[in-house]
Amino acid sequence: MKSRIGIGYDIHRLVEGRKLFLGGVEIPFIKGLLGHSDGDALLHSICDALLGALSAGDIGSHFPDTDPKYQGVSSAILLEKVVELVKMRKFSINNIDTVVIAQEPILAPFKEKIAQNVAQILNISKDCVSVKAKTNEGLGEVGEKLAIACYAVAALEAEE
Ligand code: MG
Repeated sequence: MKSRIGIGYDIHRLVEGRKLFLGGVEIPFIKGLLGHSDGDALLHSICDALLGALSAGDIGSHFPDTDPKYQGVSSAILLEKVVELVKMRKFSINNIDTVVIAQEPILAPFKEKIAQNVAQILNISKDCVSVKAKTNEGLGEVGEKLAIACYAVAALEAEE
C-alpha cells in the first residue's frame, strides 16, 4: 500500500483582544493568536502536514492571507477543504501527531478536547490524533509568551 507523510509548522503572535483557538477549541486566556483567519496555529500546521504529504503546496498557496474571503474565517473550514483534497487525491488519513509549544496558558487540561475536535474535523477516530503540549522552557519568543508555535506530522495511505 502506498503511504505518504508530511510535516507542518506554524507560529502566530499572541496579542490582547483576540480569542485563543487551538485545534478549533476556544481556550480561555487573556490573549489570542493574531492572524488573517482565527489564527489557529495548530489547525494551520495540520493543513500544511496534509498538503505536504500530498506534495500539494502549502496553506498560503491555497488560502492566501491577501484574500478577503479568508478574513476572520474559522481555520476548521480551511482544514475541511484540505481534507476534501486528500479524498479527491484518493488518500485516507492514517494518523496525525502534533506538538503545541506554549509558555502560557497551560494546555494539559485541553489536550483531550483538542484531539477530539481535530479528529472530528478530519473525520477519523480520536485515537488516530495525538496532541502533545509543552512549554519552551522560557526561551525565545514562545518562552517569552509572545507567540505559540505548533508542529504536525500527517501519515496518509492510498485508498485501494
Ligand atoms: Mg498560520
